[in-house]
Formats: sequence, structure tokens, C-alpha cells
Amino acid sequence: MQSVKGTKDILPHDSVAWRHLEQVIREVMHRYCYGEIRTPIFEDTTVFSRGIGEATDIVGKEMYTFTDKGGSSLTLRPEMTAPVIRSFIEHGLGDQRVLNKLYYIGPMFRQERPQAGRFRQFHQFGFESIGQTSPECDAEIIAMASDIYTRLGISFTLKINSVGDPTCRPQYREVLQSFLDSVHDRLSTESQKRALSNPMRVLDSKDERDKEATKNAPVILDYLSDTCQKHFQRTCALLDEIGIGYVVDPRLVRGLDYYTMTAFEFISADIGSQDALGGGGRYDGLVTQLGGKETPAVGFAAGIERMLMVMEKNGYTFPEDSPEVYLIGMDPASRDWVFQTAIKMRTGGLSVEIDYADRSVKAQMREANRLGCPFVVIVGETELQSGTAQVKNMREGTQESVEFSSLIEYMTALSHH
Ligand code: AMP
Repeated sequence: MQSVKGTKDILPHDSVAWRHLEQVIREVMHRYCYGEIRTPIFEDTTVFSRGIGEATDIVGKEMYTFTDKGGSSLTLRPEMTAPVIRSFIEHGLGDQRVLNKLYYIGPMFRQERPQAGRFRQFHQFGFESIGQTSPECDAEIIAMASDIYTRLGISFTLKINSVGDPTCRPQYREVLQSFLDSVHDRLSTESQKRALSNPMRVLDSKDERDKEATKNAPVILDYLSDTCQKHFQRTCALLDEIGIGYVVDPRLVRGLDYYTMTAFEFISADIGSQDALGGGGRYDGLVTQLGGKETPAVGFAAGIERMLMVMEKNGYTFPEDSPEVYLIGMDPASRDWVFQTAIKMRTGGLSVEIDYADRSVKAQMREANRLGCPFVVIVGETELQSGTAQVKNMREGTQESVEFSSLIEYMTALSHH
């Protein structure tokens, strides 16, 4: 049997990298005072059909939707913003604080065509700042993402745009639509359809014909309302002040009506065609879309697998997961001592490994080396009689005798030194 196409096992060796990355994310979240939210892996399908939009690829083609034995239509979450907002409304979080700052880390599910950097179960972390329209919220979200990438040695290009809001976007949409009409024959078939249903999405088409045909398309930045214009300028000014570089990309769009103002994306030059590290933006219309009170919000989501790909490519050194102590028994009687002492040391807080396969002392030494243990404790007949153990410092190549009675204390002091 094999794991399902597009899914992956994360074995202990890889888990070290995952845990390190998660730890860095949590640390940064703590500094910015975001609280962790954990929602269920599946939701009623309507959370996503209403929260992401029927017309999107995710809802239209990629969801793992099933009917359970009670006849409910459920869906494995393809993303987290909709569940977070569902939970925000359900628990009345908006009544408790003027701003709710939430983050998450976990698996998402989309039935996409698997390829390098694209999976069917993949992992995201993300954060949502729910309750205010201040550009500070937008800039903070971008700063956190940038902080995490920088800390992990991941270089990126940050693209930013404003997609306006329902007061100015309809007018732009009309202008764009008539432009697209004028170049209709030069567009790809897909974009010809989109020009009618979702014209802004034509601008982020990867098809060369579309790129060529829309080279001189009108851009939304020329049509922003005063409010949107000010919000965009202030957000950019804040990024300038805190020293985060960005490129304004007027073709960066979001297809849905509840997206407003800020849209941004982090791109990597290190991982081939699936180069989007993460993206986000403002979605002032989503909370009402899901049945809550009008509440502005801004958020970000990032793929973890792609970050790990970049880090591996860069030769990032992950902290090792080595035991602190390896205990070696030279004969059957000492092995008994080794087992008991290992349990005592572990209870006392040390990470301790021993041999379970009756291997020779030499083989056990090799194993301790392979695991990267800094200290090895060796006990044989002589040591059992004298009640002292030989403690070997593997890094410095030194050795000393330590009495059994003070061994745990001694090893703890050495290891946590
Ligand atoms: P999205 O929710 O589509 O904006 O995706 C946010 C980020 O999640 C992307 O920039 C990717 O880094 C990552 N991502 C999205 N879909 C996949 C996938 N199928 N496999 C791996 N990573 C993904």
C-alpha cells in the first residue's frame, strides 16, 4: 500500500525541520500578540462555498467534499480564512475585543494536479487581523510574514496592490471589460470566458497571449476612490518606514467581491514554477458574506512545504534532535543497570538513548556517534563493583569517573550547561 497521490509522510528526520519552522512561527506570533486558533479539519460545505466563492477554482474543482452517513455535505478545509471567520462569528469574538488577532498552522486539502511544490494535503500557516480598517493592520500582517521568512533565511519579492472596494471597483470593472472586448480575439479561450464572469482575473493569467493582449490594459490604481487611495498610500508608507521592500504590481488581483483594498503576494526565485510562497490581503466584505456583522479584516496564508523547499535548497542548518546521553553496558549485568538508569535519567529530564539489540560496545559507540550524542556513559563489571561510571565527553575526547549516586545530577549539569 502507498500513501494517497499528492500526500506525503513526514518521517522523524524531516519532523525536526517542521518543528523548528513551527517554533519560529509561534515565536513570531507571540511577539506580535496573535493567539492561536484551531478549528476542525472539516466544515459544512457552505462555509467554503459562501466563504471562498462558487466561481473560484478551489470551490469549483478542488474541494474534497463528501456526504456523511447523516446526509450532511462536509468538506475537508482547503484553506483557513473561511473557518476562522465562521468561528469568529459563532463565538461572538467581535463583541469581546475591538481587534482579534488570530493565527493557525495546519493541513489543508485541495484536489489539484500534484507536481513539485503542489500537493493534495499540504500545510499552511496564516494569520488574520479582524476588526479594524487601519493600514497599520495591513502593514503588521506583511511585517510578520516578512519577519518569519527573513528569520528562516528565505528571500522573497513582495508584490503589493490595491483592488479598490465596492465604491470604486464597479467603475473600473466596466472600463476593463470594454478594454477586454477590444482585444477579445487575441485572448486565450479561458480568458475570453473570464472577461465576462471575472474580468480582473484576466490580468493575472499566466498565458503569454493574455499577457501580450493586456499589456496596455487600464489598471485599478488609476480608479481608486479617495479612501482606497489613502489607505494604499499609508500602507506603503508604513512599509517604507519599517524598511520592508516591495514592488507595486497593478496586475495583482483578487477575483472576489469581498476582497477590498490591499492585496499582496510573496514570491520566491528559488523554487521553480510554483513560486508563490504566500499571499493575502484585506477582505472587509467576508464577515457579512458569512452572516456576521460588518467587520473589516486583513490576513495572510503561506505554504509550509514551499518554505522547506527553499530552506533545503539554501542548505539551512536545522537544529539537531540528538539525545543528550548514550548509556553503554559492557555485559548483561551492566545492561540491567543501563536500562534502570536510563528510565531514572529520563524521568529526571534528560534525553537518553540505550542499545536494545545486544550489540558490542564498539557498535554502541558507533551508534552514539551517529546520533550525535555529546556524552556517553560506560559501565562494566569494574564500574558496577566500584559504583562509578565512565563519562566520555564526545566533543572534547575526555573521560572521567563519576559516582553513581551523583551521576544524574552531574549529567544534568553537563547537558544543560
Ligand atoms: P492560497 O490559499 O491559494 O492563497 O495559497 C497560499 C499559499 O499556500 C500559496 O502561496 C502556496 O505557498 C501554498 N499552497 C497553496 N496550494 C498549495 C498546494 N496544493 N500545495 C502546496 N502548497 C500550496
